[in-house]
Parts: sequence; C-alpha cells; structure tokens
Amino acid sequence: MHSNISIFVPHVGCPHKCAFCDQRTITGEQKLPHKEDVERACLQALGQVDDISDTEIAFFGGSFTAIPREYMLELLSAAYKFVGEGKFKGIRLSTRPDYINREVLDILKKYGVTSIELGAQSMSDEVLDANERGHTAEDVRQASRLIREYGFELGLQMMVGLYKSGHRQEDETFNEIMAIHPDTVRIYPVVILKNTRLAELLASGEYKPMSFDEVLSLSTRALGAFTESGIKVIKCGLHASEFVEKDMVGGFYHPAFRELCENRIYLMKMESALHDANSQGTTPNDMRVTFAVGKGCISKAVGQKKANIQGFEKLGIKVKITEDKELGLYEVRLIDDVTAAHKFSIYNKKQLGKSKKCGCFYCCEIFTPDEITNYLNESEGTALCPHCGIDSVIGDASGYPITKEFMQSMHERWF
Ligand code: SF4
Ligand SMILES: [Zn+2]
Repeated sequence: MHSNISIFVPHVGCPHKCAFCDQRTITGEQKLPHKEDVERACLQALGQVDDISDTEIAFFGGSFTAIPREYMLELLSAAYKFVGEGKFKGIRLSTRPDYINREVLDILKKYGVTSIELGAQSMSDEVLDANERGHTAEDVRQASRLIREYGFELGLQMMVGLYKSGHRQEDETFNEIMAIHPDTVRIYPVVILKNTRLAELLASGEYKPMSFDEVLSLSTRALGAFTESGIKVIKCGLHASEFVEKDMVGGFYHPAFRELCENRIYLMKMESALHDANSQGTTPNDMRVTFAVGKGCISKAVGQKKANIQGFEKLGIKVKITEDKELGLYEVRLIDDVTAAHKFSIYNKKQLGKSKKCGCFYCCEIFTPDEITNYLNESEGTALCPHCGIDSVIGDASGYPITKEFMQSMHERWF
C-alpha cells in the first residue's frame, strides 16, 4: 500500500496573503525542518513502512518551490539520498502554480522528485483574485502542462466554497480540472480559520458562504466524477484535527466529510438504478429492492446511521445491500429478487435454523425446516431438498417470500 513520509515545510516569509491562510499568525510557533530532520524521518520510516518501493518522501506546506533556494536544496539533497533502487520510490511536494518553471523543474528532476501537487484552489480568475491568491487560472494551466511535459505525476488541489465563488465559478473549476485530468486531486471544502482575511469578511457579513449542503453536493459531484474518469482523489475534506476544531470560525468542516460524499454518491446511484428499472418496466416486486455494490462498500451505500436505507424506507421501499466483488468503487447494480434470493440457497444451515417455512426452487415444494435431513458440506451446511434432493432450498429468514409463485419464478431464472 502506498504511504508517505510527511515533512511539513512552512512558508516562512511568504509574500502572499491568501484570504484563507493563517500562516502569518502561526509561523512564529513553527519549527523549520532541516536536513537532519529529513534524514531522521527517512531512517525511522525505513524500519517501519511495509513497502519501501511504494513510499514517497512528501514535502507539504504548499509552497515548496517558493522557499529560499538554498534551503530547498538542503531538504532535497537530504531526501534524495534515500531515493532509488532498494530505497524509497521518490519525492512528492506541493507548491504554488506561479513558482513552476523549467529551471525549477530541472532541479526537481535531478533530485528524484516524482510527483508535484499544485495548489490551484479555483480555476476562476474572479475567485482567485477575490481570495488574494496572487496567481491566475492560466498559471495553473501552464504549470500543469510543464509538469506533465517533464513526466512528473501531477496533482491539483481545489477548494470548494471560497469567497465570491458561486455555482458558475465552481463549475468552471470542476470542468477545467476534469479537462486537465491530473493524476490526483485533493478536494478541500473551505474552512474559515481565526485571524484570516476570510474570517474578517465573514464577520463583516461581506462573505456569505454557501450552505453546507451545497458544498457537500459540489464536493460529491467532484469526488464521483473524478474517480470515474480515473483521477485519484487522495483527499476529500480536511483531516480531523484539534487544530482545525479549535481555530475554525466557519466554513464546511466535518470529521467524516469524504464518507458523507460517498454516502451521497451511492444514494444517487441507487436512485438512478431504480429510476432506470422503472422506465424499463422492470421494477422489482413488493417495493423490496436489492442493490449490489463493490467489495468493502456496503457501509458507504448504507450511509451514516443507515441514512440511505431509511430514506428509501420513508418512500415505502425496503432496501437490501449485498456485495459483488466484480463491481468497482461507486458502482451499483440493482438485482431483482429472484436473482438476489439465490445466495440464500448456499451454506444456509444457520438461516434455515431461524426459518419457520422453507421452499425448494427446483421442485417448488413448500415445507418446514425440520423435514430437511441432508446437507452438503456438513460443516458449513447447504441443505438438500427432502422432496427432490437438489440443493435449492431457501428459508423465510432470508427475507424473501416462501410461496409457490416465488419458487416458480426462481426456477425459471435458475434452471
Ligand atoms: S497559502 Fe498563500 S499566504 Fe499561505 S503560505 Fe501559501 S502562498 Fe502564502
Ligand atoms: Zn425440491
């Protein structure tokens, strides 16, 4: 699994004044890392990470190529000693788009840098200007082109819900990032920190942030669409941290922001699968529906506190979610009852033990579980029908109707 050795490099003496940034107030307390710190972190990680060949040394802080050149070289040469065959995979760093040019990229190439992330934040010049970023959308386009030309992995960071960003500006950012198609993206819903320009604008009433729900749905769209188009979203929402919770005065923070977005993606996918079934006239019977999702995705589809399932219940639809390892992340398939019920005919000894009535979808007989005497795979137990001897028995504890009609429909589907 990929891992990073993270080294935070604050932008001391940064000449910019981005409206969301509180670097100026906090740099006083921050310690600058030096070559010894880089070496120590790398040596420590050598003995700890699972797969060194998939580990990168990561310089974070946002402006790596804008720090004094001598200091940048000190950090890079310390890290470079740990990069190469039998050592770490490479170096990743984040920087501003207006501090990328050929001369800088030549240096980064020489020192084993593999990935560069740009703080794009917005692709609307109006928004960049209003938030005093000090660069334009064109800087992001150009820097992205150059980074690609040099063969680095490209990452873009975007913020959602900035000052003066409405739906048009958010669409601009989303569409342009889709068009640039970076390798990775980080989606940051804006968090308004104390002692920032945004905090002032918020206090004066000049900045009227979008609603949490709007920012959530914009972030959901970005997470879903980027992922589907092969852009890896390595972050969606800020890390839960004491620092954020203590210093925020507004904005869109939630400790499980990504999960909220993923729950929504699944909800929308399930709704649209149901809508398609309705329009094709293949809506499942009895308002009872089963959706299959990819491996490990059931909880994302169920939603926090079962919100998605309960939402369907309010509409009178009973939803079950099962796993199908053939499906990828955010993929959903609606399965009809006769297909979904089949899995209850295998390793079903326990389920039959809890059932009052069972049926066989080979001979379509209905009987009580105590009539069953033979099981395949004795330990896990797959029941054989006492009437025809076929392993096609399901019980009512499966949640499916044990009726002649349902057994006949299953028979048609499976035999
Ligand atoms: S976010 Fe802006 S103001 Fe803050 S350190 Fe980076 S460039 Fe400077
Ligand atoms: Zn039978």
